[in-house]
This record gives sequence, structure tokens and C-alpha cells, in this order.
Amino acid sequence: MFREMGEEKSGKKYGVLKNSLFMLQEARKNVPSVIWLAVLDGLIAVAVSVIELYVAPSILKNLEMHGTLSGLLSTILFFTAGITAASAVQAYVWQNMRYGRIELRDHIVTRVRYKMSTSSYPLREKQAFINLLVKANDALNDNDKASEAIWTTFTGLVQNILGFAIYLYLLKSVDPVVILVTVVTAVLGYLVNYRANEWNYRHREEEEEICKHVLYVQDEAQDRCLAKDIRIFGMGEWLCGLHEKYMRLYLDFSRRRERRYLAADLTDLILGILRNGIAYFYLLYMVLDGRIGAAAFLLYFAAVGGFTTWIGGIMENIATLHRQGLELESVREFLDYREIFRMEEGMPLNWEPGASYTIELRDVSFRYSGSEAEPAKEVFSHLNLRIRPGEKLAVVGLNGAGKTTLVKLICGFYDPDEGEVLLNGVNIKVYDRRDYYRLISGVFQDFSVIASTIAVNIAQDTQKIDMERVADCVEKAGLKKKIESLPRKYDTLLDRFVYTEAVELSGGELQRLMIARLLYKDSPIVVLDEPTAALDPIAESDIYQKYNTLTRGKSAVFISHRLASTRFCDRILLIEDGRIAEEGTHEELLANGKRYAELFELQSRYYQKTEQF
Ligand code: ADP
Repeated sequence: MFREMGEEKSGKKYGVLKNSLFMLQEARKNVPSVIWLAVLDGLIAVAVSVIELYVAPSILKNLEMHGTLSGLLSTILFFTAGITAASAVQAYVWQNMRYGRIELRDHIVTRVRYKMSTSSYPLREKQAFINLLVKANDALNDNDKASEAIWTTFTGLVQNILGFAIYLYLLKSVDPVVILVTVVTAVLGYLVNYRANEWNYRHREEEEEICKHVLYVQDEAQDRCLAKDIRIFGMGEWLCGLHEKYMRLYLDFSRRRERRYLAADLTDLILGILRNGIAYFYLLYMVLDGRIGAAAFLLYFAAVGGFTTWIGGIMENIATLHRQGLELESVREFLDYREIFRMEEGMPLNWEPGASYTIELRDVSFRYSGSEAEPAKEVFSHLNLRIRPGEKLAVVGLNGAGKTTLVKLICGFYDPDEGEVLLNGVNIKVYDRRDYYRLISGVFQDFSVIASTIAVNIAQDTQKIDMERVADCVEKAGLKKKIESLPRKYDTLLDRFVYTEAVELSGGELQRLMIARLLYKDSPIVVLDEPTAALDPIAESDIYQKYNTLTRGKSAVFISHRLASTRFCDRILLIEDGRIAEEGTHEELLANGKRYAELFELQSRYYQKTEQF
């Protein structure tokens, strides 16, 4: 149910390990090379480090043993060649891994986009779902974000764990107390880091809330629709004030967070000094005591340093993995967000051309989810309505009466809280909702133009476009003259934001474009929610004349604020107070002399008056 969707989250907590496994599984399925390249990268890094560890002690040993110059040179050459070859392979591996990482991220981004564009309408409106999307996008939107950077962490883990094991073996003759101090201080450093990360995680919603406001101000300041208001009503100052206020809040938040990270870094630093100090002091003592020679001292000296680095590295990798895991958690929470409609797994509904469809709303009650501050009122209460196949139904009523909501219920964008929406007697909840949407076409108040050609916008397809049909629909929608006058005609691009060469159509022309799109889809049920709102009276009247042709053979639901326009319909519903207040043909309702007649009279007088001016 729509209102209970707060609980629609999968409810799972994934954790670092599961999130890491998620990435490994995604890689195994889509780009497996990423996994072995990450491991190879780690192995080579350890190899380079072990070779480097032995350079100075080997040279020193050579000198101690009074070796020849050529012997010394070949030792140096051997190490240099080894390091150069390993670094070259590492660079090659890294380059290949980079492409793989991007490809893998792209797979996940595609899944997120798909989920967003195909999820049900109520989910699309749900703030928790939108917030998760924002976070998921954040984890996916560049090379440094968790979805890619986690591979660097995996490589680091392979490298650090292997390095740790090798160096532990090398240091087997060093006092275990020194090893213990090294391990304990490094672990403590990790714990301090962990706490700082936890703080960040616990406060992420506070940060999001502030960021949402900052982004709102930024978007509004750039919004083209608002540009006029900003200038005329002096909204600029108000926007600047808001921006300043939220930026101050954001800076304050960042300061609090950075203070935690600074404290963690400082503690880590102090622990590092303590750790290294004890280890080096012990080694110096061993040399002075004559228990180890210069070459061995150098080897151990470097090995203890390296060992500390491996431990620090492992701890840092775990902390980073934790942080990246939290970022990826949003991606997974979003992808696993439970869908409330049967979008794909419902009963298939095959649209057969020529089949007739009856839509029925039986005892339907509905309210929007509302908020704590303003609990929503019931829009409909026990509403009953039957739309016969091929019927032309008009829905009228004052603003806020529920006309658009009714259309949304018919379209299956929302499910009623009580009662049922039935298609040929079967509750539409049973069907695969995407199949149900195939039966419906519409022109809505807030229509969407895609950044592509006019033909693609009408056909809603990029592959197979029947150009003859496109031209026919454009003609019926009354847009032919305009489109044929454009140099690239049906190939004209729309949306200036994306294409600089795009053409900008007027509100009325766009509305006609949407009518052409509706005709192209040729579905058995059509809804027209104020399809002429942006048209001038002549164009409006032209569409009304064509209304019967446009909807021939289809069931049509038509919303209009102009009561005169509804006279073409078989039946008119007047909605008031969440119920059907009056019902009948235009003539019947006028003859009734009630609310419809009153509103019609008011409107006619108004239009007659305005026509006299
Ligand atoms: P009409 O189309 O007749 O103007 P609507 O169907 O748009 O009316 O709205 C009916 C009622 O539902 C109004 O009170 C409106 O404020 C409310 N409403 C509409 N959409 C939403 C929404 N997404 N969330 C909450 N309330 C809404």
C-alpha cells in the first residue's frame, strides 16, 4: 500500500563483507578480468617491494665481502632490471584494470537507471526512495567513487596481506614483543579511524538534508521558468540569503566532521611514532650488542618499516573498505528497494487489436500519503465508475476536485487504498503493470519531451519508426505546417539543453506534438488531461472539432476546465467532494439545472464578456 511504503525498503543490512562480495559477484558476471587483474596488481606490488627491500642489504653485503666491481654492478643491474620489468607489467595491468573498472561501474549505473525509470509511480514520488537514488548516484558518478575505487582497496588488501605474511616470515628472529607492539598500535590506529567513519555514517542524513537545500537553491537560481520571477519579484536576494544560510550550515557540519577526522589522524600519527620508535630502538640495541651485522641491520631496519606499512595498510584498507561499503550500501538498498506493483512478474496482459476493454472503479477510496505536518485528505471515498469500451467520458470539476487523480488511478499509476480498478472485470493489480500501461496512451498536463528528433518523440522509438504514420499523426494533430517548415523536418532535434542546434517549440506546439505521439501509439484507452491548456482559443477549438476523430474507436477520458469542450463526450462526470456529484450528457446536465448548469452558465457569461472586448 502506498502509505506503508516506508517499510518497503528491503530492510536488509548488508555490511562490509556482503558489499565486497556484491562487487566481486558483479565483476564475475560482467567483467571477470577486473578480479584477476586486481589480484595480479597486488602481487606485482609486493614483488617490487620485496626486491626493493633486498637492494641495499645485497649491495652492502657485496661491499662487506670485498666483491668485484663487475659483481657489484651486476647486482645493481639485476635489481634495477627486476624493478623496471615489474613496474612495466604493473603499469600494463593497471591500464587494463582501469577500463574494466569503468565498464563494471557502467553496468551498475545502467541497473540503477533502469530501476529508476521503470519503478512504480508511487515509489518515484517517495522521498526515501529519491534520497537513496541520490546516494546511489553519488557512489557511482565518477572514477574516484566507491564503485570503482573499491578495486584499488581490494588490490591494496592483496598486496598488504601478502606483504605482511612475507615480512613476518623475514622477521621471524626478531623479538615477538616488538612485533606485538607494532601490531597493537596499528590496530588501535584503525579503531580510531573506524569511529570517525562511524560518526560520518550516523550523520549522513543530516548532511543530505543540508545538501538538498543547497541544491534546491542552486537549481532554482538556474531554472528557466523561475528566471522571470527572480527578476520581477526580486527573488534573487531571497535565494542568495537561503544559499548563504545553508552554506553556513554545511560549513559547520564539515567542520564538525573534519574535527573528528583530524583527531583520528593525530592519534594515528602518535601511535605511529611510538610503534616505529620502539622497533628502531630495539634494532639499534641488537647492533650495538653485536648480535646482528650491518647488512642484516639494514634488512631488518627496512623490513620493520615495511612490516608496519603492511599492517597500517591492512587497517587502512579495512577502514576504506568500510567507508566504501557504506557508499555501496546505498546502491544496493536502492536496487533492492521493494517494488509495490507487479511490474514484470504479474499475469501477462496481451493487447489484442480490436478487443474491447471496460474499465471499472469499484468502491474506490484513495488519499495521498501526506506528511506529518499536513495529513492528506481523502481524495475519493467509495467511488464507483464504469467506462464502456469506446466511450468518451469527460471529467469536470473545480481545481483540486480530483480529476487528475482519477486519471492516475485509471492509468494504474496509483493503486486505490480501498476498492479495485478492474479491466474487463479483473483487478489490474493481478497483471504485469507494464503490460497494462501498453493499453494506455495520454496527453498529461506535465508532458515530457525527450532530447532527440521530432520523429523519435512521436514514435517513442529509436529503431523502427514508421515515417508515414508519423507524418499522418502530425497532420491529424495539426502540426504538419510547422514541422514541414523546419529545415530538418522530422529529424529536427528538440531540447536546447542537450543540443545547441535544437528547435524550441511553443507550449501549444508541444501539446500538439504530444497529441501526435498519442495517435502514433494507437492504444485502446486514451486519457487527455487538459490537452489544450497551452493552446489559443482557435487552436483549442480546432482540437475539440477533431476530438472525435482523434479518439475514434477508443475509450477516452477527457479532462478540461472548459465545460463547453466536453459536449462532444458521451457522458460527463462532475466531481465534487471526493464523489461523482452529477453525471449525464451535456444536455442532460444543463436540463438538470444544478451545479454543472451553474458552472456552465458562469463560464459562458465570462467567455461572452471577454469576446466583447
Ligand atoms: P484536479 O485535477 O481536479 O485539480 P488533483 O487530482 O490534482 O485535482 O488533486 C486532488 C487533491 O489531491 C488536491 O487536494 C491536491 O492538492 C491533492 N494532490 C494532488 N496530487 C498530490 C500529490 N502528489 N501528493 C499529495 N497530494 C496531492
